[in-house]
Amino acid sequence: MYLMICCDPAPSLQLVRNSKGNATIVINKNRPQEVAQAAEELQHYIEKISGAKLPIVNDLKLARGMNILIGNNESLNVDIKTENNDGFIIKTSKNTLFLCGKSEIGTLYAVYTFLEKYLGIRWFWPGELGEIVPKQSSIFVDDIDFIEEPDFKWRNRGPGGALWGAISGPTEMHARARLLGITAQHQDEVRRWEQRNKWGGMKIYGGHAMGEIYPPEKYAKTHPEFYALVDGKRAVPGPDYDYKHEGQICTTDPEVIKTAVDWAVEFFNQHPDYDGIHMTLNDGRGFCECDQCQKLDTGDFVTRPGIDLEEMKSKPVKYTVITDRVFTFMNNICEEIQKTHPGKYIVSMAYSRYIDPPKQIKIHPYVIPQYCLWSAYKHANTELKQKHEKIAAGWSEVSKATAIYEYYINGSWPGMHRLVVPNITESIKYLAGKGIRLYQMQSGDEFAINGINYYVAGKLLWDVSLNQEEILNEFYHMAFNTSGDIIKNYHHRLQEAWANATKYGQDVSCSLLSNTRLMELFTPDLLSACKEDLKRAKIETNDTAIKKRIEFYEKGLKFTDLTVTAVEKTRELETNGINIFPFDTAVKDIQNKEKDKVIKMIEKVLAAWEERDNYVENLKNDYVLAYFWIKYNDEHRSFNPTVNLKKLLKLLEYEI
Ligand SMILES: [Zn+2]
Repeated sequence: MYLMICCDPAPSLQLVRNSKGNATIVINKNRPQEVAQAAEELQHYIEKISGAKLPIVNDLKLARGMNILIGNNESLNVDIKTENNDGFIIKTSKNTLFLCGKSEIGTLYAVYTFLEKYLGIRWFWPGELGEIVPKQSSIFVDDIDFIEEPDFKWRNRGPGGALWGAISGPTEMHARARLLGITAQHQDEVRRWEQRNKWGGMKIYGGHAMGEIYPPEKYAKTHPEFYALVDGKRAVPGPDYDYKHEGQICTTDPEVIKTAVDWAVEFFNQHPDYDGIHMTLNDGRGFCECDQCQKLDTGDFVTRPGIDLEEMKSKPVKYTVITDRVFTFMNNICEEIQKTHPGKYIVSMAYSRYIDPPKQIKIHPYVIPQYCLWSAYKHANTELKQKHEKIAAGWSEVSKATAIYEYYINGSWPGMHRLVVPNITESIKYLAGKGIRLYQMQSGDEFAINGINYYVAGKLLWDVSLNQEEILNEFYHMAFNTSGDIIKNYHHRLQEAWANATKYGQDVSCSLLSNTRLMELFTPDLLSACKEDLKRAKIETNDTAIKKRIEFYEKGLKFTDLTVTAVEKTRELETNGINIFPFDTAVKDIQNKEKDKVIKMIEKVLAAWEERDNYVENLKNDYVLAYFWIKYNDEHRSFNPTVNLKKLLKLLEYEI
């Protein structure tokens, strides 16, 4: 199993010789889209490597020279014995190279693996700059007989649940990102990068589902008893309902269960390609207090599932655990679904008051509890890490198919540097050890900033036995060559800073400007050392592509730098007694102050934020930063004061 670069006396397959094609790519006539893509990608990269463009044909009789057969067809008389549909074989036989998956997507993975493993290509981040294509004029392949399948059955980077408040318009993240000006081309390139690194696996729809299953416009009048009984009244959703928050239901009502079953049956009829569907209760509170529902509870309490260790300790809030009733509901739905759609999964998040595993019931083998708040980015703190591990292990004991929902980014973190590669590695290996093989993350496109987190995770989700240091060393060497050690050190510096800032369980977030922890993390010393690293890395190389890759990282660092500078300036305003959030407070704070002075101060702060915001706007389609999450944070957290500052200025000018 190895690639021959040059003159072997008798290599089995000579695909390209001295930049001249010596092979034909053969695909079935009625091939699905993934197989066509596989053929085109192979053709594209072989040409990029060698200059030779191999023809693609639909009929083996038209093939000249060596054959590259893509996709499972009658010429390949082999049963691909992988358990997983994403599995594939790469095999040579006489004058033929077979690249065949158990499914169409498996075929695509076969091609990408061939390009990566045998021809040395890497896709470190989306776009051409993140791509490594070693040039060679001849491509000879020796005997290969290789079969592979992923360790994790679900390796998903999206979609993100940050759509609270999306009362109108699309509720899917990618559709919403396009409304913000993210281009379809940008999204295609990211999707392509994911496929090239073999992200994917199971197809599961949705998240908080109550708004979709029980829309008030359909059931509020006719079936108020569907909704949760709270303080003796049915909590029918009102006009402010955003379909994801509140609007809970009575999960023991037989008609409520039947409605969920009908809805899921209809979904699977319409979407036979999906493996599972989320039936998760809505976010927020307001769970049913009827006797039937409460009867299923264990009587245990959960304290607020910990975002911040300090906060948890100082203000513990107790809630009744409702895991058993929630998963009784899921089991009931799932049992019915198996009758019409055997093998399809019903998914529910395990978080909030149902974050701990059930005590009185068994989980149906086709119910997936998806444990949220695993949060490896907090695992520098041993106490939080052990707490998370205990919950995950508990779920893995009661369920055959536990999934994880992980936060590589979240609403309180607009994608500044948060490098946690060792935490990610350790956590993925821990989960695999517990038999957990379903993993979904909340992700962004901040590849110039936290891209290494995503890259390493992708590799490990496919093959959990890989060694982290080997993945990293290859990354730094291939992407940065002589500057690789400096870049490694740059990442290490940021990683250490994050670990130090969170080791006592602190929440470093961008939720409130008064949160000084952000300034404690990104100190002037850290930022200037980081700038210095990248400057030195650029001096260390003469390679134009590598220089550009370092400049890509510089763009990422500048985003963090501009944000921290703007926060610092805002804090100067606060030390002068003007708090920007909430707006009413700001209006009070500017009273009885010298207007000219206040205007000048506000203008200075506003200029810093506008510089940062313009910078973000210009880079939204460049894979540098997490544009969607920046905008989300701007709108839904008390962090970016631009709107309030402008309103204050208007008010001041009007009064003058
Ligand atoms: Zn009830």
